[in-house]
Amino acid sequence: MATKKIAVVGGGMTGLTAAYYLKQKIKEQQLPYEVTLIEAGHRVGGKIQTVRKNGFIMERGPDSFLERKTPAVKLVTQLGLTDQLVRNSTGQAHVLVRDTLYEIPSGTFMGIPVWESALTETHIISETGKERIQEELSLQKSKPMIDQSLGHFLRQRLGDELIENLIEPLLSGIYSSDIDKMSLMATFPQFFKLEQEYGSLIKGLRKTLPQDQASTGKKKGQFLSFENGLETIVEALFQKLGNDTCILGKPVKHIIHQDGAYHLELEKNEVREADAILMTVPHHHLPSIFKADSLFAPFMDIPVTSVANVVLAFDQSAIQYDQDGTGFVVSRNSDFRITACTWTDKKWPTTTPNGKVLLRAYVGKPSDQKIVHLADDEIVKIVLKDLAKVMNLAASPEFTMVTRWKQAMPQYTVGHVETVKMVRNEMKAQLPGVFIAGSSFEGVGIPDCIQQGEQAADDVLQFLASSYRK
Ligand SMILES: Cc1cc2nc3c(=O)[nH]c(=O)nc-3n(C[C@H](O)[C@H](O)[C@H](O)COP(=O)(O)OP(=O)(O)OC[C@H]3O[C@@H](n4cnc5c(N)ncnc54)[C@H](O)[C@@H]3O)c2cc1C
Repeated sequence: MATKKIAVVGGGMTGLTAAYYLKQKIKEQQLPYEVTLIEAGHRVGGKIQTVRKNGFIMERGPDSFLERKTPAVKLVTQLGLTDQLVRNSTGQAHVLVRDTLYEIPSGTFMGIPVWESALTETHIISETGKERIQEELSLQKSKPMIDQSLGHFLRQRLGDELIENLIEPLLSGIYSSDIDKMSLMATFPQFFKLEQEYGSLIKGLRKTLPQDQASTGKKKGQFLSFENGLETIVEALFQKLGNDTCILGKPVKHIIHQDGAYHLELEKNEVREADAILMTVPHHHLPSIFKADSLFAPFMDIPVTSVANVVLAFDQSAIQYDQDGTGFVVSRNSDFRITACTWTDKKWPTTTPNGKVLLRAYVGKPSDQKIVHLADDEIVKIVLKDLAKVMNLAASPEFTMVTRWKQAMPQYTVGHVETVKMVRNEMKAQLPGVFIAGSSFEGVGIPDCIQQGEQAADDVLQFLASSYRK
C-alpha cells in the first residue's frame, strides 16, 4: 500500500495534540501513514507562551487549564508530566463592582448562587436583586429555542443585577465577549438542559453539581499548570513529534484539490501534497486558504476580538495588598479599563522569586478595543492608574511585559453551533478528507482544544481507512 500523507496545519495546542495522537495511533496500528505538522510561526504552541526571566515564570497567553475537563490531564499523564504539575492556590476571589472590591461569595458556580447561603452575607447584590434571584426557583421553564444569547437566558431567569455585577465579569474573562451576544448553546448548553429538566437552573445546579464545584471557599484549586510554566506541555509534545514531523516558519498560503490529492502551497512556491488535512488555524484564515471553495465564507461572520495583557513585576516593598486572594475581575459598570487582574505570585507561588510581586492585568473589553493598539507605555500607564485605585503602589514596577493578541479571540455568538455544523456538512461533500478543529469551533479552553485535537485525529484515521476500502 502506498503511504498516505496527513497534513496538520497550525501548531497550537489543537494541532500539536492531533499530530501527537495521530503518530501514536499510526504506530500502534502499524498504518502506512505519514504525519506532517505545518506551522506559520518559528515556534509551536500558538497562544501558549511562557517567558522565563530573572527567576520569574510569566505567561503571555493562558496560565493554566481546568482540571475537571479530563482530556488535558489524560494527555499530561501520557506525556509523563504529572510530577511537574502545580495547582493554583485558592484564596478569596474578588469582583470589582462600581469601583468597590467585593469578595465573590462562596456557594456560587460561575457567579450563579447555587446555595441560599451565597446570597445572605454579600453586598454585591441589593435586597431587591436577591429577591429576584430567589424567584428563579419558582419560574416556569422557558420555551425551547435552537439558540439564544447567554445574557438573554440568564437575565430572564435571574434578573439583570446578578448578571451585571457577577456573572458577566466572570464569564467575559474567559470568552472576552459580550454576554448579550454570546451563544448559550455554544458556551453553556448545560444551563439550558438543567433548566429544562429541573424547571429551574438553580435547582438543576443543586442536584447535579459536585459540592466542590460550587465555590465553597475551602476547596482545593481547580486549575493546573507546570512548575516551569504552561509551555512545558508544548515543549514535551514538540520533543515527542520531533523535527522531522514539524515544519516551522512556513504559513500555508493556499490549498487546492487536484487529481485526487490536496496541494498545500507554502511560501516560495513550495508545494506539499496530502491525502487528508486537519486545519487548526483560526476560522477567519480558512476562506483565503481555500480560495476556490466559498463554503468557508460563513466563517467571516464569526467575529474575533483583540485583547492585551500586562505583566508587572515589583519589589515587595513597592506594593501593599492585604487582601487574601488571587485576583479580581471587573464589572462593566466600574470606571476601569482593565477587565481583570491576577495576583500571580499569590495564585502561582512558583512563578515569583522571594521578595517580589508579580501581577498580570488584562485589557480589551469588546467595547474598548482601541486600547490594544496603543503603545506599550500607554497601556502600562492606564493599567497602573487603574491598579492604584484598589492597591497601594508605592513605586514603579521593576519591569513590565505587554502582550497583544490581535484578532485572536473567537466570538461564539448566537447560532455558532449551527454555523460550524453547516460548514462541516458542506466540507464532507466538497472537501472530503479535510477537517477543522480548534478554539474557533468547539470550546476555547485548553482541555477543549485537546479534546478536539484527539477527536480530529480519530476522524482523519477513519476517513483514510474508509478511503482504502473504496
Ligand atoms: C491571553 C489569553 C489567555 C488565555 N487563558 C486561558 C487559560 O488560562 N486557560 C485556558 O484553558 N485557555 C486560555 N486561553 C485560550 C487558549 O489559550 C486558546 O483557546 C488555545 O490555546 C488555542 O489553541 P489552538 O491550537 O486552537 O489555536 P492557536 O493557539 O491560535 O494556534 C493556531 C496556530 O495556527 C498557526 N497558523 C495560523 N495560520 C496559519 C497558516 N496559514 N499556516 C500554518 N499555521 C498557521 C498559528 O501560528 C498558531 O500557532 C487564553 C487565551 C488568551 C489569548
